[in-house]
Amino acid sequence: MDKHEGFMKALKCRECGREYPLSATHVCEFDFGPLEVAYDYDRIKQSLTRAAIESRPRTMWRYRELLPIAGEPTVGCQVGYTPLVKADRLAKCLGIRELWIKNDAVNYPTLSFKDRVVSVALSRSQELGFKTVACASTGNLANSVAANAAAAGLKSYVFIPSDLELGKVVNSLVYGANVISIKGHYDEVNRLCAEIAGKFGWAFVNVNMRPYYAEGSKSMGFEICEQLGWRTPQHTVVPMASGSLLTKIHKSYQEFAKLGLITDSAWHIHGAQATGCNPISSAEKAGMDFFKPVKPNTIAKSLAIGTPADGFYALKVMKETGGHADDVTDDEVRDGIRLLAECEGIFAETAGGVTVGVAKKLIASGKIPAGDSAVLCITGNGLKTLEAMVGHVGQTREIRPSLREFESMLKDEEKAPVAA
Ligand SMILES: *Cc1c(COP(=O)(O)O)cnc(C)c1O
Ligand SMILES: [Zn+2]
Repeated sequence: MDKHEGFMKALKCRECGREYPLSATHVCEFDFGPLEVAYDYDRIKQSLTRAAIESRPRTMWRYRELLPIAGEPTVGCQVGYTPLVKADRLAKCLGIRELWIKNDAVNYPTLSFKDRVVSVALSRSQELGFKTVACASTGNLANSVAANAAAAGLKSYVFIPSDLELGKVVNSLVYGANVISIKGHYDEVNRLCAEIAGKFGWAFVNVNMRPYYAEGSKSMGFEICEQLGWRTPQHTVVPMASGSLLTKIHKSYQEFAKLGLITDSAWHIHGAQATGCNPISSAEKAGMDFFKPVKPNTIAKSLAIGTPADGFYALKVMKETGGHADDVTDDEVRDGIRLLAECEGIFAETAGGVTVGVAKKLIASGKIPAGDSAVLCITGNGLKTLEAMVGHVGQTREIRPSLREFESMLKDEEKAPVAA
């Protein structure tokens, strides 16, 4: 393909391999298979070396040859390179030798992993000449599209289910986005957005721009490898909504191995869901290749997709890598959030509680062996889902501003310790 498309070659159908031009389109006309970006890996290999990467700014764009834009990024230039934290105290609690937290709860600018996919989708939208951007969202995507569109001077429409957490609603409205609240769950929001995308000439980041958007998730996996010293962890635990992030973490490890950037090793990718919305994990546990759609009912709203677009491919990745899936109840989600906060000082949103809770189960069952190393992908910030924890985190103790009162409070507690 021509050099104006950077290192991309074409869009390619995952099912039949037919190629399409690099436009705003996402399904194959012949079999409705999803389209994916194909790259020129021979050319990439010539410019993407460890030394080149290490010399570049600490953002996700240091891997730009493997991200689907033609020129330089114009949106979200500061996104990514979030901390990879060695989690020794949590490792001890969960009973595993080596544990790391990939902390996208502090991603820039909207505190979730979605800043990665949005910066790619909006940079590509600018290249394709769009002036209005949009999305169907479970919350974090709406926040990120609203913020990044504002910073880029783009008009935005974000569509959300009407039962979303207050923090996520305010975090979309504050940027001046058009926030459309749909009386229905995410799967209905998504269906409506597919109709709107067909009628209006907008860049819907996760509909017609999905092939580009989804590739942004790979940057989380690239960073994990580089931050571990150019190797993969033996196990990676990934929360699943549509299942896209899980498939792209796998693809990122494959690409780094293919380019000789990591010492090739075996990795296992595990998937995490909430029991109240577990179409993918229940299929994996039953040994099935296909999922059955469900009606979501969980506090982990960011993962509440009952008909996951990439569920089939997520199941395939887990099978191929010897990974497993599991799911946790709302109470276990809260336990996971508290455990991560108390052990590591990291306050994750409900999706993070899902990931920690599922990791705990997989380690306890031996599906992740105690002697191995694992990375947990923490994808969102707890300050956006406060209502999930209200009433579940102990209580403040109120006194007057008096030293005597403070001392007598401590004395009373010695006699009758306050439950933590
Ligand atoms: C969107 C999201 C995910 C994963 O989404 P996929 O659709 O599976 O790629 C995980 N965690 C959080 C917090 C999210 O917002
Ligand atoms: Zn096809």
